[in-house]
Amino acid sequence: MVVLRKRKQPEPSAAQQDGLQKMLDAAASASSLLIFTGSGLSATSGMSTFSTKGGLYERAQKRFGVTDGKKLFTFSFFEKQRLEAMAFFADIYAEAKRAKPSAGHRALAAIAAMGKLQRHYTMNIDGLAETVGLTTWHPDTNPSGQTLEMHGNIHELVCPECGDVTDVSSAQLRTIRAKRALRCGHCGDADLRCRVMLYDDGEADVITPEDVFDVLEEDVGAADMILWVGISFQQSASTAYFRRVRHFLQDAGRLQQCKQVVVNLSEDCLWNLLSSLSNTDDLHVIEVLASSDEALPKLAARLAQTPAAARQPPPPTLHPLDQARESGCS
Ligand SMILES: [Zn+2]
Repeated sequence: MVVLRKRKQPEPSAAQQDGLQKMLDAAASASSLLIFTGSGLSATSGMSTFSTKGGLYERAQKRFGVTDGKKLFTFSFFEKQRLEAMAFFADIYAEAKRAKPSAGHRALAAIAAMGKLQRHYTMNIDGLAETVGLTTWHPDTNPSGQTLEMHGNIHELVCPECGDVTDVSSAQLRTIRAKRALRCGHCGDADLRCRVMLYDDGEADVITPEDVFDVLEEDVGAADMILWVGISFQQSASTAYFRRVRHFLQDAGRLQQCKQVVVNLSEDCLWNLLSSLSNTDDLHVIEVLASSDEALPKLAARLAQTPAAARQPPPPTLHPLDQARESGCS
């Protein structure tokens, strides 16, 4: 159940302080955090956001004369104008190359260094988490990786035919900009694409393997605090992830005990999220009206005050002999 404030429209600063303090209080007893991030995390890194003014959708709209810039990020558009779309993605790649990690990224790395990060799930494709030292999850080569890139990484190319992934080379970048097809060095197929998830992506399995949701279920089971940072909840993917997490918590009977926090500068985010849910009973969400650059460093500082040893130990399993002793058989 979401508790609505009785006060009439509190001043943003008061609401901000209120939510921040609640998050920090909750963090005092947290030892395993699951953190989801969206474009707000990279807002001060030099990366464009999607739906804001002058953002990627608007630029796509102007460049391709489409009525809705979002269309460029759909698989149906990509299939029709693959080389044109790739040239546009090359611009996003160039932006990501120039981008610098934010204070929020550095705070994430600090939380991981304390041993309190269950995992970081990002919808960002900029690869910036890696630049602060967070390791990237991979189902085969790094299953214990700290950051799981839900929507891929713009620095990489993938072959839809054989699934081979490589970093974009400067020669390949020139080919993409010249709107020519790229051949896979592994299987020879001439259809290499950026490893970024598009809407209704028909090649989604080579961007993110389906078994990420098995990993997510395990992570949700181990986390005692879940944060949604810099996510506007305007995209269907993010609300779908929230619903899935909620479902996992419900199944585990942990909906009440696992605290969830939504961190964003705009009040619209929680509103967008709640509007997308059919049922908000038993839903406990702390709303933090702050940027990720403000909230995450404060969270890291609070977490640093309690040692990682405070992590709840697993329930003791008694040796059969001890069990016998306990039941008074010895
Ligand atoms: Zn291939």
